[in-house]
Amino acid sequence: MQHCTIGSFELTALSDGTYFLDGGGFFGVIPKTLWSRKVTSDDRNRVVSGLNSILVRTGEKNVLIDTGIGNKLSEKMVEIFGQPAKLLENLSAAGVAPEQIDVVINTHLHFEHCGWNTIRQNGTVKPTFPKATYYVQEGEWRHAHEGQRDSVSYLNENYDPLVESGQMKLLRGNQEIVPGISAEVFSGHTRDMQAVLIQSGGKTACYISDLIPTSSHLDLNWVMAFDLYPVESIESRKRYYSRAIPENWLTMFTHDPEVVWAYVEKNAAGKIVARGSVPAKT
Ligand SMILES: [Zn+2]
Repeated sequence: MQHCTIGSFELTALSDGTYFLDGGGFFGVIPKTLWSRKVTSDDRNRVVSGLNSILVRTGEKNVLIDTGIGNKLSEKMVEIFGQPAKLLENLSAAGVAPEQIDVVINTHLHFEHCGWNTIRQNGTVKPTFPKATYYVQEGEWRHAHEGQRDSVSYLNENYDPLVESGQMKLLRGNQEIVPGISAEVFSGHTRDMQAVLIQSGGKTACYISDLIPTSSHLDLNWVMAFDLYPVESIESRKRYYSRAIPENWLTMFTHDPEVVWAYVEKNAAGKIVARGSVPAKT
């Protein structure tokens, strides 16, 4: 389990384990001859993907960013992706009970980012974090019901019961959620995916979610085939780097099984690279 501080906030990387993704899907139009130099694939062309959530302890609030795959996948999905379900034990190891989470922020609602939002108990679906207020963009929640190309990635029981009960708040655009923690929309992966900015004591960290899923995706053009709007992903990355590099933001990688966070910089050849990376632990 990795810790760091951003000003007076304490950040802990909490893994829900790892799962498999198709290597071609992960790297889009980039030829395998290039991506295979960075990431190994198995005999089914699958690569190992991390599930890194972040717990932020501000001193006032416990904030959880993204909630992994959870434990409600169908048998078929378990066959394809696996279902490691480690987040709650890692949360417990960090000394925090589910009842002590005050805020849950979902960057978007694909199943591997909001799976632990809810649990199934005696045939009904209940919030895993009973006292938390959950946040996502309203446009993302609407998109979850649009039945578009990525509809297979949306499982309504991860969010609809929370929206119905009023426990999940739907945001319209950028907004500060608690002092020092704000949501900012970066389109591309989905239209309304939000990153989470964590700012304290003049320092900034950013959970950039699927806009830059791993440290192997730092190159502007290495966007995933899963992205609904890949050209917008590239524009959003430009906007992100134009602030993250000069302002020395710590970038957090949601799907990197090795590197949970790193500072990014432009090297002498003009390539975006990571420095000071910290290994992830499952
Ligand atoms: Zn996604």
